[in-house]
Amino acid sequence: MNCPYCNAELEYHDYFGKLDNSMSGISHDGEIYKCPSEGTCESEQFNYFFYTFRDGDLKKGYPC
Ligand SMILES: [Zn+2]
Repeated sequence: MNCPYCNAELEYHDYFGKLDNSMSGISHDGEIYKCPSEGTCESEQFNYFFYTFRDGDLKKGYPC
């Protein structure tokens, strides 16, 4: 997975999900990545974060 702005390889940051009342725990909805090119990448406008949802599309910013 590469940064769509600077083409650097994104670093895995974390996964995200939301509380699921029907199961004990958190559903795993997607992955969070971060661009390593701090200071030089245009993804600075959303703090270098990207994420994927279940469909696998890379989205900009931090999921919340
Ligand atoms: Zn970048």
